[in-house]
This record gives sequence, structure tokens and C-alpha cells, in this order.
Amino acid sequence: MDSLPRIGLGIDVHRLATGRPCVLGGVPFPEAKAGPVGHSDGDALLHAACDAVLGAAGLDDLGTLFSDRDPAHQGRASAEFCSEVMARVRAAGWRVVSLDAVLETEQPKLAPVRGAMRARLAELFELPVTRVNVKGKTGEKVDAIGRGEALRATVVALLLPL
Ligand SMILES: [Zn+2]
Repeated sequence: MDSLPRIGLGIDVHRLATGRPCVLGGVPFPEAKAGPVGHSDGDALLHAACDAVLGAAGLDDLGTLFSDRDPAHQGRASAEFCSEVMARVRAAGWRVVSLDAVLETEQPKLAPVRGAMRARLAELFELPVTRVNVKGKTGEKVDAIGRGEALRATVVALLLPL
């Protein structure tokens, strides 16, 4: 294996539904009016981060590793996917050195918990919090995100050999 860094990109969209629990970046939002619909807990930010890391390591994607047709993954906390993804990434000889994320949603308001989301991502992907960033954006009233019907997470990850 060469010693060059690898970059990966992950994008994930989930519908939002009233009454669904809302967990984003592994952080619960108990006051949220709606939460992401998904086979697991629908944590789009963690799903996009996993896909970015898997992509950089050349290890396929989250949907292939954890099929949404498998009942074992029903309602599963996405933090567990991150642990399994990191085990595979380590086994393939890589470590995550930086993550940058954009989370687009009309609600909940992300600003008060961005620090907590950075800390949780740092913990799950085994890197210092100073190398993790989370940016919140609204959908500017445009398209399904702007109407509050969905949210989208986009993450880029940089990996180096162990
Ligand atoms: Zn997802």
C-alpha cells in the first residue's frame, strides 16, 4: 500500500416525519418537531460520515455492509455502524485524520449542539475534535429540504495509512 492520503465523500438524505425521534451526529434532539425516517435511527450525518470513511478506504458503502432489508438493523443506533466501519477501516490499514460535514435541515436548530456533534463524531471516528467540523445550513425554503420534508448530510473524510 502506498503512503498517500485518501479522500472520501458521503451524502445521505432522509425524509423527516413528525413524531419520529431525532438523533443527528449521534446527538439526540428531544425538542425536535420531526425526526428522520429510516430503517435504522435515520442519522443521516453518521451515515454520510461512514460512507465518506468507507469510500476513502475503498471499502464499498454503508448500504452494502448493513442492508436496510436486514431485520437485524431495524431501529439500530447508527453509532453502532460507526464502530463496525472503524473496525473495518483499521483492518484495511487506515485511520481517519479529518472530517468536514454539512448538515442541511430546516429543523431542529443545530447551532446550540454543533460542539456536541463535533465531539461525538471525534469519539466515533477516533480523531481529535479539532479535526472535525460540522456546519449547519437551512434549505432557504427551496426544495424538499427547504419545506422541512427532508434533511441532507454531506461529509468529506481524509484518511492516512496507519
Ligand atoms: Zn441514511
